[in-house]
Order: sequence, then C-alpha cells, then structure tokens
Amino acid sequence: MFNGYLTLEDVDVTGKRVFVRVDYNVPLDEHGNIVDDVRIRETIPTINYLLDKKAKIILASHLGRPKGEPNPKYSLYPVAKRLERLLNMPVKFSSKCYGEDVKKLVDGMKEGEIVLLENLRFHPGEESNDPEFAKFLASLADVYVIDAFGTCHRKHASMYGIKDYIQPVVMGFLLERELKYFEKALVNPQRPVIAFIGGAKVSSKLGVIKHLLDKVDKIFIGGAMAFTFLKAQGYNVGSSLIEENMFDEALSVIEQAKEKNVKFYLPVDFVCGEAVSDQTPVIEVAWQEIPEGWLGLDIGEASLQMIKEMLKDVQTIIWNGPMGVFELEKFKSGTFGLAHLIAESPALSIAGGGDTDYAIHKAGVVDKISYISTGGGAFLELLEGKTLPCLTAITRKQ
Ligand code: AMP
Repeated sequence: MFNGYLTLEDVDVTGKRVFVRVDYNVPLDEHGNIVDDVRIRETIPTINYLLDKKAKIILASHLGRPKGEPNPKYSLYPVAKRLERLLNMPVKFSSKCYGEDVKKLVDGMKEGEIVLLENLRFHPGEESNDPEFAKFLASLADVYVIDAFGTCHRKHASMYGIKDYIQPVVMGFLLERELKYFEKALVNPQRPVIAFIGGAKVSSKLGVIKHLLDKVDKIFIGGAMAFTFLKAQGYNVGSSLIEENMFDEALSVIEQAKEKNVKFYLPVDFVCGEAVSDQTPVIEVAWQEIPEGWLGLDIGEASLQMIKEMLKDVQTIIWNGPMGVFELEKFKSGTFGLAHLIAESPALSIAGGGDTDYAIHKAGVVDKISYISTGGGAFLELLEGKTLPCLTAITRKQ
C-alpha cells in the first residue's frame, strides 16, 4: 500500500543539503524542561543515516501552538541541546525559521553538520500553508525528507505545500516504520485481529470504530464510551458519562458489527465512584448494577479476565484510548491491566494516542508492545481510513 513512495534510501543524499521535517513537539514542564524525548530519539536513525552520507542536515519542527508569532515558551532551543547530548556532537541552532539569516547559516554549512531551525509555527505561513513560506523552506535544500508522522494529517507549509517547490520529497525512516506497522496491523494483518478502543466520547471515535468494523474480527469498547453503548440499548448506567445524541449511532454500530460478523464486546464490570476524584469511595460491580448517583470510571477485574480469554487466539492487536479515568490512582487499573495483558500476548501489537502511549510507559511495558505510534491525531486518521495529506506530498516511485 505504501510501497509506491520514495524513501530516504531511494535517493542519493551524499554531501547534499537535506531538509528533514521532524516532529519535535515534545512535552515540556513549567520550567521548559523536556519531560519525554521519545519523539527526538525516534528520529536518530534518519539523522545517523544522513550523517553517514555526509549530508548537510537541516532539521525543522513545530512545538506547541505559538499561533504564528515568536514566543520563547515554545522555542526549540532545549531540543537542540537534547539532540546534542543524544548524538554526542554539536547541533547549530538557528534562532529563526525564515529569512536571510537562515539562508546564510545554511549556505555556510559543511558536510556532516546539523542545523535545527526555530519553531516553524513562529511564522504564520506554516499553519496557513503559505506558498511563500513553503518556497523558502524548499529553497534551503536539495532533498526534502518528511519524518514527522505526528503532523502528517496537517496541510501545513512544511508538510504539504513544499511539494510544489522541491523534488524529491521522500519518507524518513520514522514515517516509513509507522506506515509499515500500520500496514501489518490493518492492511495485511495476521488474523484474528482485535481492536481495543477507549476514551471519553463516541462522537470523537465513531469514524474509527466504523472503519475498524471492516478490518477487525473483534472489537472491545472501553472507557466512558461503553456507557453510551449500554444506555442506547436501554440499560441503566447510573450517572456515568453518556452522549445521548450518539444513541442511534451506537445502535447502528452494534447492528453493523453483527452484519459484518465482528464480535462486539463491552466491559462486564466497572469500578465506580460517586465523583471523578481519588477522594471518592469506590465499588466494583457487574455491568448492570451501577447504583443511581454512581459513575462508572474504570473497567473491573472480570472485564480484564474476559480480555485475557479474548486475547488467547488473537494474532494482531490494535489499541487506542484509556479504559477508564487512568489519570486517577483509583481508576487506573483497567488501563494499566490492559497494557500488561497486551504486553504478555505474543500477538503483533500496535498502540497509539497520547493517553495510550503515556499509560504504556507508566505501566513499564514499552518494550513488550510491538509498535507504539508517535502520532496521536495522525494515528487516529489512519485508523479511520483517511488518507494522510502528507502522503500526497511524497514523490511516487517511477
Ligand atoms: P479521549 O480523548 O476520547 O481518548 O478520552 C480520554 C479521556 O477519557 C481520559 O482523560 C480519561 O480520563 C477519560 N475517560 C476514560 N474513561 C472514562 C470514564 N469511564 N468516565 C469519564 N471519563 C473517562
């Protein structure tokens, strides 16, 4: 499916100016320290390859939402410093992402040098896909590499508009890996395939759930979404979070699952509280026994047992979204329990989304998940069956 696109290894980059659009949108604490540098580490294979080829490497990314103007809070300077440590070599930082100074800096680069540009979103042209800005970025390079999977669903100048001003545009190793795993899990998977979808709202995951019904053999819906599915069928869910305007859609999903022979599962028990708080008393009840005034805030032990059984014959696992309010101590066991069950399974497992990624890290099972996507929105759009706009920017093989 993704074989027709040019990748880094298909082009000659030796000694050339290579622009690499990365996704260094990393979480920072209130002092501007990088809390998690996975997104930086994941680009090292592409950078090392280019270093081996003695390319002049120009890295560029966005960070946060500075809304088209410089804002020191969102500077990529700390990322340049982290990169220096990870690569054990100097990384020049350009305090601008546009203009003569940038051009001069790049013109003066020697082979095997690295420059990181300041946050692309400090220029309003990035998010508005301004042709002038795209043209400027393209003018800095001979070869353009897209390695920012997390931004692939955005039609921004550095991700999309550039294709009109530079050829070839190729995939970096990170993007290639993301798409390969996606293909393994959803395009040509080993069956049976199971999807675990959790989170708060059916409305935001409806497209994903519907698309997955054509792809998977089993689907398990957890998180608050489960209550919309239960209530739509007329069951009592106490004061749990529901979306009344999604009842018809929920019933139609259940119907479609039957028609498509996809086994559709909801949790069989819940951990409930009287409020979304760690101070609330907690009870664990069967799914039809949530008392009035109580909210289901996590899946319970019986649901995890059921999942363990379901996983026995499965060859491929897809996971997005928490099973409960995993941010709270009292309601994290379901999500962490699922992370452990997936980790123990020999099946190919891919997971994505900010919360899911965080839960897998917290559960300490990163190494046991086959692939954790670096993209939240982009991962969901792939699960929804959408074409990522950036793919239309990548040069096709002849
Ligand atoms: P989403 O962004 O749709 O993936 O939703 C993630 C959010 O859903 C997390 O912040 C969870 O705390 C929340 N969530 C998961 N399960 C529940 C639940 N049973 N009740 C309320 N919120 C939930």
